[in-house]
Amino acid sequence: MTSPTNETVKCACEDCVCEVSAAKAVSRDGKAFCCEECAEGHPHHAGCDHAGCACHG
Ligand SMILES: [Zn+2]
Ligand SMILES: [Zn+2]
Ligand SMILES: [Zn+2]
Repeated sequence: MTSPTNETVKCACEDCVCEVSAAKAVSRDGKAFCCEECAEGHPHHAGCDHAGCACHG
């Protein structure tokens, strides 16, 4: 039986409410983000596609 670590981390983007599994997080500068858009600081002012999340830089 395998027991994968199901660790979730909050996206480091301040306005973002998403949590992402540590394994799938996009890491940038030692922080974990839920998606590229957050990791880049929303250069296109696009939000992440997650329902209920209002972050868009
Ligand atoms: Zn989000
Ligand atoms: Zn995010
Ligand atoms: Zn964000």
